[in-house]
Order: sequence, then structure tokens, then C-alpha cells
Amino acid sequence: MQHPVALCFMRCIRMTNFYSEAAAYDAADPLATFRDCFCLPLGADGKPAIYLCGNSLGPMPKAAAEEVAAVMTQWSTLGVRGHHEGEHAWLVYHRRFTASLARLVGAHDSEVVAMNTLTVNLHLLLASFYRPTAIRHRILIEAGAFPSDRHAVTSQIDWHDRRPEDSLIEVVPSGPTEQWHTEDFVTAIEKAGDTLALVLLPGVQYRNGQALDIAIITTAAHRVGALVGFDLAHAVGNVPLQLHEHGVDFAIWCHYKYVSAGPGAIGGAFVHDRHHVNVDLKRLTGWWGHDLATRFRMGPEFQAATGADGWQLSNPPILSLAPLAAALALFDKAGMTAMRAKSQALDAFARRLIAARCGSRIEILTPSASAARGCQLSLRVIGGREHGRRIFEHLTAHNVIGDWRDPDVIRLAPMPLYTQFAEVEVAVTRLAEALNAV
Ligand SMILES: *Cc1c(COP(=O)(O)O)cnc(C)c1O
Repeated sequence: MQHPVALCFMRCIRMTNFYSEAAAYDAADPLATFRDCFCLPLGADGKPAIYLCGNSLGPMPKAAAEEVAAVMTQWSTLGVRGHHEGEHAWLVYHRRFTASLARLVGAHDSEVVAMNTLTVNLHLLLASFYRPTAIRHRILIEAGAFPSDRHAVTSQIDWHDRRPEDSLIEVVPSGPTEQWHTEDFVTAIEKAGDTLALVLLPGVQYRNGQALDIAIITTAAHRVGALVGFDLAHAVGNVPLQLHEHGVDFAIWCHYKYVSAGPGAIGGAFVHDRHHVNVDLKRLTGWWGHDLATRFRMGPEFQAATGADGWQLSNPPILSLAPLAAALALFDKAGMTAMRAKSQALDAFARRLIAARCGSRIEILTPSASAARGCQLSLRVIGGREHGRRIFEHLTAHNVIGDWRDPDVIRLAPMPLYTQFAEVEVAVTRLAEALNAV
């Protein structure tokens, strides 16, 4: 069954003139009005840019400035009373996000919390979920993982007086492409068997944009008795997620990429509710994770708040949380179903354009199967690093903002809340121009 939004895109006749085709898609786009809810950055020459970089830093929702201003006003007018009074009392400010975050990652309200930043949350949850024993001590990640994730797991292994040489497994893609087959992970998990303590994988891999099969990987890991964490940095706000249903043990993410909550925005964490009542689970604690009902009695014993809230440490930075409210309101309003339908249509359009105009001079590293990708297209420029850099610089100079990953990958992420089909057409035209020119 096709979703009505997908049908609406499919009904537009495929024209050989990509320019007219893009215009027809944009005219039929049910999410078109969301673009105006963002401040879209300008290019180097001060002209509006085609912003395809939400995979790195999402553009600012216009309402974000008002949310920050509201906190400043509350502080200036109420002082300490702002903890309990005002439109959004700071004491429970983080709960503004609970329902929206639960929807975004497919969780129960008690399973999610906005706190800290991604790598901090990763360490906090590894403290709980990586408890190596003499037999079960290994962590499985993907080869070429984001450096911070690799640093976090190798330092945790070291922290437990073990060596990455013995305790770290890095799964390399088995095929000729740089994409993993789900079987690559399942086979590695089964091979590790009862030596495997933890699987830590990305929901969407940052470099090639591949979305992994969370359900199958989680089941495989649980079958050998291991726990499973997912890093959703590139998945949240990008692809539909069902963390609770798929049985993932924990997850962490940031909100400054697709979610557009601002540079260094407060991150998120998920802890499956099967772990909420586990009294044997250890954690690193702070007063903000103490049950709110008794927190301010200031007693010496720690009593965890129910659910993911119980992993909080500190009185949170309210100013840094504020923009998240503006961002999540847009995701709630648009809905992941409509966003996903448009994202897939943008991607299909971009791939047809690239095939028609760039041919074999560009290799698309991101899988084409719809379940195995999100917004991002990772493009390898054939011809080496220097050639690739020049192509990338041509794009930047012509106001197409993507990003570069050494040695030869350009990442472009058409995002359904603000990217137009017409912009994708222009971006690929600039890319083809560059390939011809340099
Ligand atoms: C963006 C990203 C990070 C960034 O971590 P911070 O702690 O937010 O700086 C970490 N891991 C992955 C996979 C990422 O994509």
C-alpha cells in the first residue's frame, strides 16, 4: 500500500525535462510550507544557498530564537522562581520534549530523555550496559565507525583493564561495495557468541548513509545473550524508528543534525523499559536523576527516577534545551510518514538526475533500497582526492552546501522539511558542470 503522499509524487508524470518535473513535484508537495519555518543559510557570496547539510548541522527553525528569548525573559522576571513558575518551569523543562522524542524514536514516554550530549550519554549508558566478565567482554562495532564512538568503546574497554585487540570487533562489509549486508553483522555476532557483551551500531552510518536493519541485528545479538545499543546521530529525524518494538536496549543521539536544534544542542537517550526495574543494573548517578518527589529533601541515598529520566546527572542547561522545543514542534506537525515519503521521492529524483548527468564519474555509496537509506546521498568522486576537492569547492562556490569526507566523498542531504525538488535539480546541474569543467 502506498501512502497518499507517495502517490501524489508518483502521479506527477515523469518528464524528460527534469526542470519541469521538479516544478511539478514542488507544486504537489504537501510539506512545502515547512521551508518557511527555517532560516536558510546564505552562501559565501551572501545569496541564498541550497542547504544540503542538515546531516551535519540543521538550519535554525525561526521559532528557536523566541524559545531562547522566553527563557531569558523568565530568568529576568522570575529569577529563582522560574524553576517552579512561568510557562515552562525549569524543574520539569526537559519533559516538554518527552512525547515528541518518544514519537521520533518509537519509544514509550518513560524510555526517553533529552540530556547532555551524544558522547557523554554514550559513556553514561556504557557504564550501565557494558559490564564485561572474563568470558563475555567483547564489543562489536562497524569498521570505520565515527571516531567518537570508537574512542568511547575503546576507552571503556581500557577502563575495564582490557585491550581493544581482544575485546573490540569491527565488522567490515563482505561485498565489493562499501555497504554492509545485514548478514555481515549477524554472522559476526554469531561467531562471537557468548564472548559478545555488546553490539553498538549506528541507525544510519555517517559516512555512506546506510540505514541498518535494527530489528534483525537486535534479535541476533539477544540470541547470543548480548546487549544492543544504537547511535542514532544520523537516524533521528531522518528515518522512522521503532526502538521499543525492536527491543533495542539503549540508544543515544544528538539533536543538531537533522533535528535542527542548534550547534552543540542537548542530546537524547533511550533506555528500554525492561531495564527500568532491574535493580542489578549499575549506573553513574547525580542528583537530577533522583526521583523528583523526594529530590529536594536532599537525603543522602539515591533513589532513581523512573525510566530514562533516572540517568540524568545535572540540573540541565535550559538555554541549550530551548531551541529543541521549536524544532520538535515542526517534526510533530509534519509527521515522519509524510517526511519519509518526500525524502524517498527526493532521493529517487536525485539518483535519476545523477545517473543522467554525471554517469560513471560519480559512484553513489549509499544503498538505493528504500529501507537501507535516509536523506543522505554519499557520492564518491571518481578520480582521486584532489579532483574530488575541486568538485566540492565548485559546489560550495556556487552556493550548494554539502560536506566533504576525506579522501573522496561528498555528502549531500536533501531534507524533506526544507529542500525543494528544484534545488536538487540545480545541485546536480552544478555537480555535472563541475565534473565537466575541472
Ligand atoms: C555527529 C556524531 C557524533 C557527535 O558526537 P557529539 O558527542 O555530539 O559531539 C557522534 N557519533 C556519531 C555517529 C555522529 O554521527
